[in-house]
Amino acid sequence: MVRVRLAPSPTGAMHIGTARAGLFVWLFAKQHEGKFILRIEDTDKERSKKEYEESIISGLRDLGLEWDEFYRQSERTEIYHEHLVRLVSENKVYPCFCSKEDLDIERAAAEAEKRSVIYSGRCSNISPEEAKKRIEDGEPYTLRFRMPKEKIGFDDMVRGRVEYDGSLIGDIVIAKSYDEPLYNFVVVVDDALMEITHVIRGEDHLSNTPKQIAIFNAFGYEPPNFGHLPLILNADRSKMSKRGGDTALVEFLEKGYMPEALINFLALLSWHPKDDREIFSKEDLIKEFSIERVQKGGSIFDYAKLNWLNRQYISHIISTPDLMTRIERFIPSDWKPTAAMIDSVKTRLDTLAEIKEALALYFEPLSYEGDLLHFKDKKDATIPNLEKILSVIDIADDSSFLSSESVADMLSGVVDPDSKGEYLWPLRVSLSGRKISPGPYEIISAIGKKETVSRIKDAIAKLK
Ligand code: GLU
Repeated sequence: MVRVRLAPSPTGAMHIGTARAGLFVWLFAKQHEGKFILRIEDTDKERSKKEYEESIISGLRDLGLEWDEFYRQSERTEIYHEHLVRLVSENKVYPCFCSKEDLDIERAAAEAEKRSVIYSGRCSNISPEEAKKRIEDGEPYTLRFRMPKEKIGFDDMVRGRVEYDGSLIGDIVIAKSYDEPLYNFVVVVDDALMEITHVIRGEDHLSNTPKQIAIFNAFGYEPPNFGHLPLILNADRSKMSKRGGDTALVEFLEKGYMPEALINFLALLSWHPKDDREIFSKEDLIKEFSIERVQKGGSIFDYAKLNWLNRQYISHIISTPDLMTRIERFIPSDWKPTAAMIDSVKTRLDTLAEIKEALALYFEPLSYEGDLLHFKDKKDATIPNLEKILSVIDIADDSSFLSSESVADMLSGVVDPDSKGEYLWPLRVSLSGRKISPGPYEIISAIGKKETVSRIKDAIAKLK
């Protein structure tokens, strides 16, 4: 039974990297009919915030990545305490009384000699009785894990064979006290007790993996399989970090990137399908995705690609009725666009937030300034063209307004194919008041006969 987990620390709003890890973990669970576990890693009391936990939870929900089990590390302190006691009693972990100053001196010496910083092991030989007494006397301490001085290797699902040398890691601090366990320790206890079979996470944790494997071994627990996902990079190849600005999932959602497009984008961000296909639904991904085809190198976050994908979803993948509800939060509540209005603008949008501007021609008074005046010089040609169009529209019946095709049919007799632009350009500006807008036939079918007539008449009056 496959059991995988997403283990975010709630120290910032849901990050785009967490969303990608969440997607890959979720897909892996679905592919293997396994369980997806969400574990909030909130042992760092100072940096963890409830609001960030909420942001992670709502982010996963927005993306439709539902979990089967939920845990919060802050509710498991007794479990960690017991496990620490166990490793100390087996002498696999020892209390360390080195002060920060002592360690700074060690570090400075190592740096001066250009050696990596490895704990000297100064407290490793203090007898358990003496250590116990010093703790009882109130001396500050940390708990250190005796790192085996041997090679620690694993077969990473993404990176292949990876090996570290335990003697270059040294004895690591795994808890600030019995009640303040640290990341590498709690993650092992939880992954073991939660029977996690595959740990899929960001590459920033690669160097933690040998430490965690050593702790698994110290307990006699079987380590899980590991798969480390490449870093997400900015265009300049710098790391896209939590602090780097536009990296919160919610910012993408608020700008009107759709969950489907984000999922599609995040999947392609570090995974290559066998062919050149680019559009993948979640269901497609469950069928096609494979962790072995995740690339090792960093993945550049390409906004142009994201915009292109979002545009595909807006323009033809998501249905118009569905779009209609999704755009509500981006437009004033008294705007009630029809399907024809949405259809007329939807192919031009990179994000849903752009829809307000795009639909404004249907809901806000038109200002022809500039754009229509452009035709003033040529009004002797423009006005008769608009009048000819008007005369046809005036006598047409409602069925001519049903679609942009029927509008085109209706006007085919009047629009001279040899000088199309002289009809359609002023017509379009008369109807939209804008330099850039949907085509005139689409607008006419969206606003209907009465409004079309009134807009053309207004425009003629302004030209005169
Ligand atoms: N809590 C860690 C983080 O947010 C991830 C832990 C893990 O996946 O092992 O970076």
